Amino acid sequence: MSQFKGKAVYKGTAIGKVLVLKKSDSVVKRYRIESVDDELQRLKSAVDRTLKQLQKLYDKAVIEVGEASAAIFEVHQMMVEDDDYQDAIHNMIANEQVNAEFAVAVTGDNFANMFANMSDDYMRARSADVKDISNRLIKNLSDDGDVDLSEMEPSIIVADDLTPSETVQMDKTKILAFVTVHGSANSHTAILARMMNIPALISVPMNLDELHTGMTAIVNGKEDSVIFEPTDDEIAKAEAQLKAEKEQEALLAALKGKESVTKSGKKVHVFANIGSVGDLGYVMENDAEGIGLFRSEFLYLGKDRLPTEEEQFSAYKQVVQMMAGKKVVIRTMDIGADKKVDYLGLDEEENPALGFRAIRICLERPELFKTQLRALLRAAKYGNLSIMYPMITSVEEVMDIKAIVEEVKKELDAEGIPYAVPEQGVMIETPAAVMISDELAKIVDFFSVGTNDLTQYTLAIDRQNENLNRFYNPHHKAILMMIKMVTDNAHKYGKWAGICGELGADLTLTEEFVRMGVDELSMSPSMILKVRNIIRNMD
Ligand code: PEP
Ligand code: MG
Repeated sequence: MSQFKGKAVYKGTAIGKVLVLKKSDSVVKRYRIESVDDELQRLKSAVDRTLKQLQKLYDKAVIEVGEASAAIFEVHQMMVEDDDYQDAIHNMIANEQVNAEFAVAVTGDNFANMFANMSDDYMRARSADVKDISNRLIKNLSDDGDVDLSEMEPSIIVADDLTPSETVQMDKTKILAFVTVHGSANSHTAILARMMNIPALISVPMNLDELHTGMTAIVNGKEDSVIFEPTDDEIAKAEAQLKAEKEQEALLAALKGKESVTKSGKKVHVFANIGSVGDLGYVMENDAEGIGLFRSEFLYLGKDRLPTEEEQFSAYKQVVQMMAGKKVVIRTMDIGADKKVDYLGLDEEENPALGFRAIRICLERPELFKTQLRALLRAAKYGNLSIMYPMITSVEEVMDIKAIVEEVKKELDAEGIPYAVPEQGVMIETPAAVMISDELAKIVDFFSVGTNDLTQYTLAIDRQNENLNRFYNPHHKAILMMIKMVTDNAHKYGKWAGICGELGADLTLTEEFVRMGVDELSMSPSMILKVRNIIRNMD
């Protein structure tokens, strides 16, 4: 038996057989080739095969996780075809008369190192992608083909790290848990795990050479631990825990279709946060009463250009149509801080969280903002859409936004394009917005408190800095007083107020929020029934 501690990115228990996914440790051999032309032809066939596989993965991912998350496979396709990458491989084959596998392996390593040494976080993360496409290309050259993960048995996936292509290929119903040596709480795998309620543990200091496929393991998300080859006692304990979790889930499932209303009749809207159209499955599965935050910036990430008006219109329209009359609050793009978009050519900043982000970019670059507003106004005709503006600090910003919305309406009128004017509200994420919420409430339709940023700006603590976890306290009295103040000011003018930051899903505060009069709580879909349960049991 061996036990390791890691960091749970989604809590929950799993017991089952391990599937160890090791990176292919076979060393790529170098040999001298007879004909450069034949070798280049062989490379070309492997590239074609690789591009076809990536297209298939993209199509599968669009259905399973949505366009925004699937975009990574478009990026992979572009990387395979990249001129610099291809030239380096071709030159090596031609000049050194080496086999294509070797040329790809060396070029892949060189490019991966180059990315790994870049200062930009987004570019650094591309290092893993270059390795991923190079390995795929080598496999295709070696006629090994694609690893088939779609036929696996129900398993606890154990790996160093998982690439997006590995996770997308897996049959999600067969994944009992993820356990990885590396990875971050915001990695593709972690996001997938949270969306799908799969227990997941990262940063586990295990040695994959000492583990093997087929051995038994227990993942205990509550205790952030994994046990390999557990004892009978440990299995019995984990089985009891799993049973209790399943019973709890069944109890919660019985709440589907029921209202989130207290015993005394106070109705609270329990909504879902999403990042893409692909998340709608989880919204339906967990019976969300609406969408309280669609982080539209995910349509802009992982691309090499801005999403067009038509692309945005089609995504927004699909979401409001699927929600069939239920409220869908779409936040205009919140790019900047940790969400970097290279093609906008923004300057490096000393304090990006205090810098050029969200509504500031939109007001400085109205042409970009107008494209999004046009798409939103057009989509509003198809359902119950609301627009929400992020990072507001002043009345003037709201007035400027209103002026731009008026321009957009005029343009659409002139072009004879149908649209509707939706409800429009602001996020309360800055202490300034809280302090002037009395004035803001007169000129907007609703408030939604973004407690992640509000905590960061109120306590002056970088929300990304792991070393400050001890001080980052969203339960701080100041934050709770702010939420109360914002709610009261909204109600004074007949407007509604919600919470869409992580605090909205904090079960220890649900009752307090309801008592404060908060009208809406929006959260990760997996938390919806738990919050509804608390509300329904309140007096
Ligand atoms: C927030 O700041 O609480 C919020 C919901 O927005 P994001 O987490 O996307 O910054
Ligand atoms: Mg925010």
